[in-house]
Amino acid sequence: AIEGDRVLRETICCILGHVDAGKTKLLDCIRHTNVQKGEAGGITQQIGATYVPVEYIKERAKPHEGVVIKVPGLLVIDTPGHESFSNMRSRGMSLCDIAVVVVDIMHGLEKQTVESLALLKDRNVRFIVVLNKVDRLCGWKHCPDAPIKKALENQSGDVKREFGWRLTKVVTQLKENGFNTALYYDNQKFRKVFDIVPTSAISGEGIPDLLLMLVLRSQATMMEKLTFVNTVECTVLEVNDDKDLGTTIDVVLINGVLHKGDQVNVCTKQGPVTTTIRDLLTPHPLKELRVKGIYKHHKELKAAQGVKIVARGLKYAIPGTSLVVVKPGDDLGQSEAKSQRNENEEGNVIQEISRLKTCKEGVYVQASTFGILEAIIEHLNSPGVNVPVSGCNLGPIEKKDVMKASAMLKRKEEYAAILAFNVRVMPEADVLASESGVKIVTADTVYKLVDSFNEHIKRSKE
Ligand code: GDP
Ligand code: MG
Repeated sequence: AIEGDRVLRETICCILGHVDAGKTKLLDCIRHTNVQKGEAGGITQQIGATYVPVEYIKERAKPHEGVVIKVPGLLVIDTPGHESFSNMRSRGMSLCDIAVVVVDIMHGLEKQTVESLALLKDRNVRFIVVLNKVDRLCGWKHCPDAPIKKALENQSGDVKREFGWRLTKVVTQLKENGFNTALYYDNQKFRKVFDIVPTSAISGEGIPDLLLMLVLRSQATMMEKLTFVNTVECTVLEVNDDKDLGTTIDVVLINGVLHKGDQVNVCTKQGPVTTTIRDLLTPHPLKELRVKGIYKHHKELKAAQGVKIVARGLKYAIPGTSLVVVKPGDDLGQSEAKSQRNENEEGNVIQEISRLKTCKEGVYVQASTFGILEAIIEHLNSPGVNVPVSGCNLGPIEKKDVMKASAMLKRKEEYAAILAFNVRVMPEADVLASESGVKIVTADTVYKLVDSFNEHIKRSKE
């Protein structure tokens, strides 16, 4: 990954789109072939991300001869626990260099596709439109893992015609939303016109093209951004409680190198915290799973990667904020400046939470990340669901959260509940909840969360 005297880091990307467009399947399709073939230099699962090395991309993109890949690979941000959401609305989106917007060719643009596009435009993130499920065109002949142009040439006139008008429909819809798009291999002006890559996540047509386009477009348009530098750029994705490791934070290391023993400054709900990295962890590759322990320990890690950090004092770290390395030479003034920066960031998060739609009488919602919280509240407020929300918070459920939720006991008893997603309930909080009559509902999808809550309402009315 050396270009002149530049060293490049991996391109970071995320996958967005309407529910059922095929986001999960697409990532599966990229991963599976690799696992089945048992290739070396293969894809590895990282913390909150999937690492796709350049060797693998070259292997799959073999039919496209003569292209020069400069980046060392792709880091695809996973959206763990986001299964029930239309998109990853989290601030994590802005850490991506490039996004993939998945559109179901049979459905065209849908509500959440349009929302994702608006957010990407807002944040000025480049994207590639994937026109997925081409195998559902009537009479499609499977050409497993073929480049899409070849696969299309193999189809009957009828299939080609159906593809043509469906493509035109999507291009028109995108135009109505303010985006010029074109089939990637016809796209001469890719700096202004967005690419469309048709794919099937079932039989793999177009997947080589997608992998290739992600690296080619990113290296053509954002060389500066992809240049490795020795300054740490790092975003907190999630805070976790591990029974063996204690509190850990999952981060995406966007640039720079993290070392065991580094002093880092992290934004928490109790203000900025400076702490020491006690351990840097990544999962073992699949084939090394028999090795003792789930995680591999590292002395240092180089961007871009998904990393689990073990350190004290991070229980209240705020997902979506950045982690800063405090150098031994940093004088106090500078550290203060960094704390200031973090305080401002925290201010933003709190402000954003208070902007979420809440009302006087309603349930209390708690989640691990801002993106999830936002999506849950949106879902609860949606017409078919109609569960009002009175308050919310991030991170583990504490006594004070139960106390806040218990305010409803006097106003509207059935709303004296905490809907908890992907967060731990602290033992004292649990005790207080059962004593005071606050119901804590936990689930691993938003839909189950709402179902369990409705069950609770039904039972409390009986
Ligand atoms: P997500 O909600 O965007 O993650 O969508 P999923 O990946 O879960 O896919 C939704 C459904 O569409 C599943 O039943 C998939 O098997 C199916 N699906 C996804 N991609 C394709 C495709 O390329 N072709 C066909 N025929 N079905 C697909
Ligand atoms: Mg999915």
